[in-house]
Amino acid sequence: MKNKYADLKCKTPFYIVDEALIIKNLEILKRVSRRTGAKILLAQKAFSMYSLYPLISEYLSGTTASSLFEARLGYEEMRGSETHIYAPAFSDDDFDEIIKICDHIVFNSFSQWDRHKKKVKDTNVECGIRINPEYSEIETDIYNPCFTGSRMGVTPANFISDDLEGISGLHFHTMCEQNSDVLYRTVMEVDKKFGKYLEGMKWLNYGGGHHITRDDYDVDMLCRSIEYMRDKYNLQIYLEPGEAVALNSGFLVSEVMDIMNNGIDIAILDTSAACHMPDVLEMPYRPNVIGSGQPGEKPYTYRFGGPTCLAGDIIGDYSFDKPLNVDDRIVFCDMAIYSMVKNNTFNGINLPSIQLLHTDGTVETIKTFGYDDFKSRL
Ligand SMILES: *Cc1c(COP(=O)(O)O)cnc(C)c1O
Repeated sequence: MKNKYADLKCKTPFYIVDEALIIKNLEILKRVSRRTGAKILLAQKAFSMYSLYPLISEYLSGTTASSLFEARLGYEEMRGSETHIYAPAFSDDDFDEIIKICDHIVFNSFSQWDRHKKKVKDTNVECGIRINPEYSEIETDIYNPCFTGSRMGVTPANFISDDLEGISGLHFHTMCEQNSDVLYRTVMEVDKKFGKYLEGMKWLNYGGGHHITRDDYDVDMLCRSIEYMRDKYNLQIYLEPGEAVALNSGFLVSEVMDIMNNGIDIAILDTSAACHMPDVLEMPYRPNVIGSGQPGEKPYTYRFGGPTCLAGDIIGDYSFDKPLNVDDRIVFCDMAIYSMVKNNTFNGINLPSIQLLHTDGTVETIKTFGYDDFKSRL
């Protein structure tokens, strides 16, 4: 494949993040903040490439975390920005560290709030409760925080309105890769079910799942959704997108190691779905490959499989204009998000290096991995 990412002189497999594409996303996000006054945070669970945090801090207000370690990473690497955290539960030991570094702490239940509230009493930490508005348009349960029996957040029936002293905001997160029409309908549900508690509060956090940097995203509707709650209850609105920050700004470059046939042509790659793009198996989905079509669309179709011994380590079926050869390079799209943060060394497979393509065209090797990274975790 002739392509500017495939042509880089890095050893495969490698993730390459394109700084110019990150900046394009950050500019869209910053315009939303300027227009509405909303503060936007990077949700590190999607993208934690902290070498870019100084750049990101020029556009966003800080980071959010789902664990002590993520919070610490944001605190240390995005100095001077806001550090927020939410988790289904906090241990006492972690909480002692969390109050030293976090500006906002969001509790998943009133029992968690009651357990930890005395520790925040004489601090400047702002506390919130995650609510479950029992409204989500996500259809896949693994990504739906409102499915029946969900552990994410307090439902209207379980909300304890006389335990709000010390609580300065509410948080909801009910979306995944969605447009702002879904947000608008969600905000109306939140208002109907929780509006009465928002009187006198300082902030409302709209969580993540906003696909703001996607081409067809309706930014005007997002701004209206922010302004509605901002003006009705005089609130600071927060958004904490993960995906939207690094959407379509990273690639995973791999090489064909062998080609075989078993009723279909199969290419063995030096990258693994199980190790290097686990969402392909977990979500599941088929990542786009530059220069390819759907199976059968172009004359030469191949199934892409990884180098592990897992039979199901299959990335997907792709077609090409010309036959593939051993040593050809394959470029997978949208590999900055939920990839490096989730990858693993299952089967002793090495991790892809992390490369950064700067706006001036130079490539910086951020990190390479080796045997010690595998051994040191076992
Ligand atoms: C995952 C998550 C986010 C980020 O979600 P994206 O889909 O990556 O935008 C934000 N907030 C919370 C609480 C999350 O769990």
